[in-house]
Amino acid sequence: MGHLSRRHFLGLVVVGAAASGVAPRLPVAASPRLAGQPALSDDPFTLGVASGEPHPDSVVLWTRLAPDPLAGGGMPDADVAVAYEVAADEGFADVVAQGTLDALPEHAHSIHLVVTGLEADRLYWYRFRAGGWDSPVGRTRTAPALGASVARLRFALASCQNWTGGYYTAYAAMADEDLDLVVHVGDYIYEGGGAGVRPHNGDEVFTLAEYRNRYALYKGDEHLRAVHQRFPFVATWDDHEVENNYAGDVSQDGITGPAWLERRAAAYKAWWEHLPVRMAPPTGPDLQIHRTLDWGGLARFCVLDTRQYRDTPVCLVGDGPVYPACPDLDDPTRSMLGADQEAWLAEQLRAGGVSWNVIAQSVVFARLQLFGGFNMDQWDGYVPARQRLLDVLADTSTPCPVVLSGDIHAAGHAALFADAADPTTPVVGTEFVCTAISSSTIGRSFGTTGLGAVLEATVPGLDYANADDNGYLLMTVTPEAVTGDFRVMSTVEQPTATVGTDASVTVTCAELGRGDTPPPPSTTTTTTSAASPVRATPRYTG
Ligand code: CA
Ligand code: FE
Repeated sequence: MGHLSRRHFLGLVVVGAAASGVAPRLPVAASPRLAGQPALSDDPFTLGVASGEPHPDSVVLWTRLAPDPLAGGGMPDADVAVAYEVAADEGFADVVAQGTLDALPEHAHSIHLVVTGLEADRLYWYRFRAGGWDSPVGRTRTAPALGASVARLRFALASCQNWTGGYYTAYAAMADEDLDLVVHVGDYIYEGGGAGVRPHNGDEVFTLAEYRNRYALYKGDEHLRAVHQRFPFVATWDDHEVENNYAGDVSQDGITGPAWLERRAAAYKAWWEHLPVRMAPPTGPDLQIHRTLDWGGLARFCVLDTRQYRDTPVCLVGDGPVYPACPDLDDPTRSMLGADQEAWLAEQLRAGGVSWNVIAQSVVFARLQLFGGFNMDQWDGYVPARQRLLDVLADTSTPCPVVLSGDIHAAGHAALFADAADPTTPVVGTEFVCTAISSSTIGRSFGTTGLGAVLEATVPGLDYANADDNGYLLMTVTPEAVTGDFRVMSTVEQPTATVGTDASVTVTCAELGRGDTPPPPSTTTTTTSAASPVRATPRYTG
């Protein structure tokens, strides 16, 4: 390998906010670092601005300079200075941090700026300037102080935003919500080609340049940009950020080795470049993204990676699973999270100091028989690993667990039983699944309606399901309860739509065996799912 320049270690730049009232308030345009910069002939802020992962004293600010976004960005192959300002007010009268940093060509001229020294639990505004152009003004906020009493947290849960599946009417609605955060659990892009409601820019993507152009297409949507501009994100990935249904170091078609890892490296790099995430950039096919985020004493988010470390799927015959008549599925050595992440997660969940443990991750956790079988790409394909996590959730000394999921292009709420396969065991957690922002719902994909009601009637613990509508989840967390409002769009096949609430589900901490009230006895009717022949199922590509 050639020499490593200083710049290979950059990418996540940390700066401190100046002490309020002491900082010289030079206008950003007067920055000496910008003075020697050539002007850019076209607006480089086509992909908008974003923020993410608020801590009590810091937040990540993001942008990427791309005057020609769909064709590699259109930037010179050189470092370009970007000036930033962070203010305590929307009019930038009270600037609390400012300076310049370089956007580097090796990171597609994206910047990830960690602004520190901020006050807890308040709004901030930020903007950038580069090449003679001003960015839009973004708004963000900091988290409450660690352990602080917090009356309410409100966030949106989003997943599965296939460009070809439809317009981002859901993001248009989300931008009007009153949110502290947006939690994204994956399928931020889709790697395939295709047309659908809106055509992708080209065929399936494989190279870093192609992944970058795909992100640029998605980021070009005004409603997605608006949501990023307004709320900080906490993001993890699912499969389509790389390739449908891949598992660790194996592609969905069983491809392994250097070519696959090269593709994974390109995909992970492009993900890092385009999301406002708080981590250094990857230098190869590996990137640790599991992490926690505390919201005062109210909630701890454990953000998981269910793709990078998972074992190869088993019990697939052709496109159909043969579970439960498949001994490989009971192999206790198989893992969804990998040993390190699994041990880390148990430690975080047991750490305490918060009312709620919120586990943000990509794929459905509850046992879910669908189309006569089980989806081996979900936790149903990793039964002993799921049970190990359920055992941690069942420990009543761990704060109340809430699992958040996406991937399935349907919405739902399910009780999590101490034994996933036995609905007569106590309820030890609760799972909220958001439907797709725009990807074709199960109902749209298979030309059916009303599947949700069928699932509610047949799947133990599943008290709400909607497989027909696109939308997102509006989540409200208080010390006592968590509420999910299932927001649904009238359409994603037209550019404009109306939003409604299909259902609201509230779960109290006491119902999960915590607090003073004992958990209610389970009244769910048990349906057996004996080893019966599994029908041929369509290959599900959530
Ligand atoms: Ca997926
Ligand atoms: Fe998806």
